[in-house]
Amino acid sequence: MQITKNSIQTAAGPSEWFTGAVYIDAVAAPAAGSRLSANSVHFTPAARTAWHTHPNGQTIYVTEGAGLCQRRGGPIEAIRPGDRVFFEPGEEHWHGAAPDRFMTHVAMLEVDDDGNSATWGEHVTDEEYATAPA
Ligand code: MN
Repeated sequence: MQITKNSIQTAAGPSEWFTGAVYIDAVAAPAAGSRLSANSVHFTPAARTAWHTHPNGQTIYVTEGAGLCQRRGGPIEAIRPGDRVFFEPGEEHWHGAAPDRFMTHVAMLEVDDDGNSATWGEHVTDEEYATAPA
């Protein structure tokens, strides 16, 4: 058993992976045979991930605010607290906050054999983001 007290600093989401201000609190980290990675991710209004994929897929569970997500080739979908989304392994997608709302989700996945959680692509442009439902 290992207790991690609430002492890990909130990390700013790196600008290579996110547009806008995003803050990340670690929930679970892969260790000792566990591949589970989980983070509580806080998006400020209009902040979002870049396009990316996960080797073993990902579940996000919205806990606060109003959010958006999209898979490549699909429409932008609105997501709310209590909604969960599963992104298939290798499915290109993004997730983030609505234009005028904060959004927090818990993001959960299993890393691959090399410990990789995601492969990152280009940022979601303002033009792409602007097609979100009102
Ligand atoms: Mn993702």
